[in-house]
Amino acid sequence: MKLLDFFREHNDEIIDLLKELVIRESPTMDKHAVDELGKFVFEQLQASGAQVDIFPRREAGDILYASWNSNAPGKPILLMGHLDTVWPIGTLVNMPLWQSGARLYGPGILDMKAGIALIIKVMGLLHLHGGLPRRPVWALFTTDEERGSIQARELVEKVAANAGLVLVFEPATQGEMVKTSRRGTARYTVTIEGLPAHSGEEPEKGINAIHEAAYQILRIISWDAPDKGTSVAVNLISGGTAQNIIAPHAEFTVDMRFTNQPECERLVALINDLTPVIKGIRLSVKGGIWRPPMERNDRMMRTFDQLARLAGTLGVPVGEELTGAGSDANFTAAMGIPTLDGLGARGDGMHAEHEHIITTSLPRRAALLASVLQNWVFEEE
Ligand SMILES: [Zn+2]
Repeated sequence: MKLLDFFREHNDEIIDLLKELVIRESPTMDKHAVDELGKFVFEQLQASGAQVDIFPRREAGDILYASWNSNAPGKPILLMGHLDTVWPIGTLVNMPLWQSGARLYGPGILDMKAGIALIIKVMGLLHLHGGLPRRPVWALFTTDEERGSIQARELVEKVAANAGLVLVFEPATQGEMVKTSRRGTARYTVTIEGLPAHSGEEPEKGINAIHEAAYQILRIISWDAPDKGTSVAVNLISGGTAQNIIAPHAEFTVDMRFTNQPECERLVALINDLTPVIKGIRLSVKGGIWRPPMERNDRMMRTFDQLARLAGTLGVPVGEELTGAGSDANFTAAMGIPTLDGLGARGDGMHAEHEHIITTSLPRRAALLASVLQNWVFEEE
């Protein structure tokens, strides 16, 4: 039977599992809740024929690592997802799981419980029906992706280092495209110390930290370069002690986004080079790269082209799109590992009240994953 027909026949199983994932609410900061979902996912992975290991985390949910065919030769394919969502416990009361035609609504359903359901069900069905590739397949489920994967990054990079291909099941774009470019992020806090003085009695004895901040902010926002896909913004600011006192202190954040490594390096060098304008000011810069960019480079293009060919053969043509936000794919792509993202369900309303998936996209995405697993040609092997 053709892959697409096969997964259309099994779509109810994918949807049933997805509903079970959505009713287990899993906000990033609630370790207990994320671990409860993790226990369920652990059992489902075992039932799909995987060997499952747990990597405990104290300040986030425990990370799950599953493997199939671990003794087979060849480079492993790594499937990635995150168990956490942005929705607090109790969201289901006002934003319940409900269906309208092909639209299935619920918190975290698109980002990215549908992707997790796809990974588990496709692997389970291929395991059951003898369709697994003759190479290892790994799956890694992180638990603090919505907060920047601080607790997961090291493990993601360690596992990905041995993989030949990384597939990330973040949602597809609205047009069911995959994501071939994600901007990187750097975050900084600039702290400025001046000297207080009464602004009526003896203003000349003060050193105004807010005035210094104003000079620095004008300098920093001039680094913005929309034509290069770079954006630089100051989004938080504080300072001063009273209306009639020369401000002795000021602090602001800098959020920098970039599509390629040279832009990243340009911005990092500039911010580390900031020097005070006003005499007597002390200025310090703290922060760094949050996520490297996932670049639309030659490797990415070759990887996407192969996916597009496989998709065409299945009869489910796929396009590519850029996105501003980051994911765990940023880490693996920046390591030089062939990476594709946005392989999850089609839908709309990520992090919004109308979050939903289109259920008819699930068999297409399942078939695409199965075809990649069975047919992918590796450049170096
Ligand atoms: Zn996500």
